[in-house]
Amino acid sequence: MNSLIISISTYSRHKQKESEYAMKKIALFPGSFDPFTKGHEDIVLRGLKIFDEIIIAIGYNSQKKRYFEIDEMVEKIKSCFSSYNNIKVDKYTELTATYANKHRAEYLLRGLRNTTDFEYENTIAMINKDLYDGLETVFLITSPKFAFISSTIIREVHSYGGDIRKYIPYTL
Ligand code: ADP
Repeated sequence: MNSLIISISTYSRHKQKESEYAMKKIALFPGSFDPFTKGHEDIVLRGLKIFDEIIIAIGYNSQKKRYFEIDEMVEKIKSCFSSYNNIKVDKYTELTATYANKHRAEYLLRGLRNTTDFEYENTIAMINKDLYDGLETVFLITSPKFAFISSTIIREVHSYGGDIRKYIPYTL
C-alpha cells in the first residue's frame, strides 16, 4: 500500500514537472558571438523579463574560421551568467530551428540595431518559421548605448591591439 502511495505521488510530481516544463517559455538566443559583447548581454538580460529560460547558443560552422575560440567563448559567456540558473550556454552545429526544436525553445531571441540588421533578420526569421512552424522570432531593439557595438568592430580593434575591455562583459 505504502509503495503504491509513493509511486502515485512520484507519478503526480513527474506529471506536474512535465506540465511546468510545457508551460515554460524557453527562448534560444543564437549567434556567432565572436565575441559576445555588452550588446548581447543586454539583450539576454532584457529577454529574461519576457522568457522563463534563455539558451545562449553559439552556432558553429567548422568551415568558417572564428577569431575567438568557441570553447573559450562558451566558458566566458557562462562566467557572465553564473548567478542565473535560467540562462544556459551551449554551442551547436545543426540548423538553428532544429536545435531550438530539440531543446523545446519556441522562441528565437534576436537583437536589432538598424535597418541593415532588419533586412538580414527578416529573412532569417521567415526561413526559421518556415522550417519549424512553432518557432516565433522575438526582436529586441538595442539599447542606444550599445547600438554601435558589433562583434566585427571589436575583432578589428582587438586585432590592432586596441583595448576592447569596455565592450565585453568578461575579461579575456
Ligand atoms: P549572427 O552571426 O547570427 O548575426 P551575432 O553574434 O553577430 O550573430 O549577433 C547575434 C544577435 O545579436 C543578432 O540578432 C544581432 O543583431 C544581435 N546584436 C549584435 N550586436 C548587438 C548590439 N550591440 N545590440 C543589440 N543586438 C545586437
